[in-house]
Amino acid sequence: MVHINNDFTKLPASYLFSEIARKVEAFASSHSGDRIIRMGIGDVTRPICAAAVEAMRKAAGDEGAESTFHGYGPEQGYAFLRECIAEHDYAARAINVAADEIFISDGAKSDTGNIGDILARDCRVAVTDPVYPVYVDTNVMAGRAGELQGDGRWSHIIYLPATAENDFIPSLPTERPDVIYLCYPNNPTGTTLTRAQLKVWVDYARRKGSLILFDSAYEAYISDPDVPHSIYEIPGAREVAVEFRSFSKTAGFTGVRCGYTVIPRELYGVDDAGHRVSLHSLWNRRQCTKFNGASYISQRAAEAIYTAAGREQVAATISFYMGNAEIMRRGLQEAGLQAWGGVNAPYIWLRTPSGMSSWAFFDALLERCHVVGTPGCGFGPSGEGYFRLTAFGRRDDTEEAVERIVRTRF
Ligand code: PLP
Repeated sequence: MVHINNDFTKLPASYLFSEIARKVEAFASSHSGDRIIRMGIGDVTRPICAAAVEAMRKAAGDEGAESTFHGYGPEQGYAFLRECIAEHDYAARAINVAADEIFISDGAKSDTGNIGDILARDCRVAVTDPVYPVYVDTNVMAGRAGELQGDGRWSHIIYLPATAENDFIPSLPTERPDVIYLCYPNNPTGTTLTRAQLKVWVDYARRKGSLILFDSAYEAYISDPDVPHSIYEIPGAREVAVEFRSFSKTAGFTGVRCGYTVIPRELYGVDDAGHRVSLHSLWNRRQCTKFNGASYISQRAAEAIYTAAGREQVAATISFYMGNAEIMRRGLQEAGLQAWGGVNAPYIWLRTPSGMSSWAFFDALLERCHVVGTPGCGFGPSGEGYFRLTAFGRRDDTEEAVERIVRTRF
């Protein structure tokens, strides 16, 4: 029999969302007729905006005519989209990112998971805790995480706690990581870093020679002028940071699939012989070998969200979700719960009441309110005692879920 990648077997059997699904299914089958409101998984509910739908129709038409048919596209993405992103997401904010530094993909999950392909197996990785689980699990698969310990931490991963005690601003690591994953606005806490706070990380990475992997999948939700839209707003970041973005939460592309990764030309690593190697070239090589490009149809759809109509429609959807977030934040605070986030991100992060564990609160919320959320401990050891609700629901569901929680008096 074939010898498998043993690192995969180190991953705990149950992924967070399958455990939630199992519990919800068990509850639903014994409580038929009770309407369950799901505010757990971070999928969107609003349909894709008209401008992108129209672009997909047109692109489908292109694919059906000999003169406009597109087969394999460039592995790095079509120039029309890369140029559009460079202009609107970067140049318009006076940020220096060239179109050829942008690699279009099928989403940020793949890219944040695959970026490890170009990094050494013995790199020390640091993650903020709680964390989007993909960063940790993909490093487990790559053999960088060491062993899972009794406290839920992996022995080779450096954990940087972000809790109410430090205002969700992690301290700099005490031992030097090679790679630091940062996600702002943050999933799951919904909190952010200001420009000054992010500068501390860029300066640290420059001093220590670390690489920052900056996930800004929720950039479109930023409302506070002090919060940077890109890590490249910080001087010197081009030499130390990769940035990931996604159209999933920006424009409802969770099913359409499109995102991008920026690798500046100034970003270098070092090989076994001590020679400098361009990360841009390595990623390009990786993509050309393992990836055949995002579909023409999804790239045309992404392009359409940068038109005047597309921008207006996308902004309306984001404002709808942030309206939900506002209802949730106010309601939960009225209910006496401590809640963070929901201002620059579509996530609300609660402290579980009465010292309940995250899973105990999950069960209580399901039993007593028929509302499903995500236990904070599923995002890392420092998420224990916290709970995530998402603002991606329907308005009537959001209002009703909040009413049920307020009435329940936890
Ligand atoms: N990064 C973060 C922080 C996320 O929360 C998510 C999705 O929930 C992703 C990346 C994945 O985005 P995509 O749909 O582009 O793969």
